[in-house]
Amino acid sequence: MVTDASPEVLIVGLGATGSLTLLELARRGVHVIGIDRGHPPHDLGSSHGRSRIIREAYFEDPLYVPLVQRAYAAWQTLERDAGTSLLRVTGGLCLGAPTSRLVTGALESAMRHRLPHEQFNADALRRAFPAHRVADDWIGILEPRAGILDPERCIATALRLATQAGATLHLGETVTGWTAHPDHVTVRTTRRTLRAAQLIVSAGGRAPELIPALVPALTVERQVQFWFAPRAEATAFAPERFPVFLSEIAPGTIWYGFPDVGDGVKVAWHHRAPGTSTHTTRAGDVRAPATAAEVSVMRAHLAAHLPWADGILRGTATCHYSNTPDEHFLIDLAPDTDRVWVASPCSGHGFKFASAIGEVLADLALGATPAFDFTPFRWR
Ligand SMILES: Cc1cc2nc3c(=O)[nH]c(=O)nc-3n(C[C@H](O)[C@H](O)[C@H](O)COP(=O)(O)OP(=O)(O)OC[C@H]3O[C@@H](n4cnc5c(N)ncnc54)[C@H](O)[C@@H]3O)c2cc1C
Repeated sequence: MVTDASPEVLIVGLGATGSLTLLELARRGVHVIGIDRGHPPHDLGSSHGRSRIIREAYFEDPLYVPLVQRAYAAWQTLERDAGTSLLRVTGGLCLGAPTSRLVTGALESAMRHRLPHEQFNADALRRAFPAHRVADDWIGILEPRAGILDPERCIATALRLATQAGATLHLGETVTGWTAHPDHVTVRTTRRTLRAAQLIVSAGGRAPELIPALVPALTVERQVQFWFAPRAEATAFAPERFPVFLSEIAPGTIWYGFPDVGDGVKVAWHHRAPGTSTHTTRAGDVRAPATAAEVSVMRAHLAAHLPWADGILRGTATCHYSNTPDEHFLIDLAPDTDRVWVASPCSGHGFKFASAIGEVLADLALGATPAFDFTPFRWR
């Protein structure tokens, strides 16, 4: 069946990227349809696990600072429009050797963009944040505006407001292919064929199934999130006393964690989990639950670096990163088209930006020039 009421824009995938883009287009009065193979928010992609860090002193590259600053404002607008709280400010700590990429990168962003921050040596860290075990030569950078976004609530809120503003959702429906024509694009799903002026593919780790040219550049990396009940000193992990943190324990080995907001202390590896990381180009291969070996690796690590958190395992969740080779985002036209956009702002750090990236993608789909230069994220 071909549906005639053609939308201006079709979005495939309603995780963080697609749901916030859908909302932005609906707010602008655009006829937009969003399609997802599941019923978001769900645990089939990269956007689940009850917490995502938002931080401003961006160690990866200072180029992200203006984008995250715009994202903060856009999250606040969403909170205000929805009458709900989505972001909890806890402050954020980057820990590591003074030469580590994490600490030097966070400092560089903070200095270049004049961000408020505080620097601690190891003794000062031990006094201020006694739950952490830090090496004598480590330093810490504390930024006050960092905090926690609730991913499931952000997505549910964006979809609710988008439908209120006129967007249509097709959920539990898989897109199987598309064809670009000179003046439109047709999209085939398991239930129908649709046509639109523009298509945005925000299908996360499954984007290569719809845009084969993404293979092998976009790889999917399995990630396990762990929740532990604090063993003792539970108050040390209260959100008022325990900022979200990232810590580089050895060159290139970063882990991170969240305060206990009632479900335990959540911790995870960022990218390569020591001895356990899985890279593949197929998203379906990476949803296996946490293994006993992975739990013991994390426990041994907690014992050394965050010993008071090494209590009962309260739960785990498997998720995946969609990685580009340089770990920057991917936002661009699909090859040989001028109406099919692909957006994978992930590589493990995209959630915080989704509110701003929704604006960028809406601009691109409507032929406007985005307020942010997205060329660093183009096909490379
Ligand atoms: C464990 C973990 C921790 C993270 N921590 C942070 C953090 O602290 N801070 C941060 O900023 N970022 C973090 N990230 C990254 C961030 O969560 C991701 O960048 C973001 O969620 C990516 O969203 P997305 O919408 O691009 O992809 P996804 O969430 O994967 O969404 C893609 C959607 O497309 C749908 N789909 C796929 N194929 C089809 C199809 N053929 N037809 C219809 N629908 C389809 C899927 O069902 C899915 O809903 C983390 C990621 C993970 C996995």
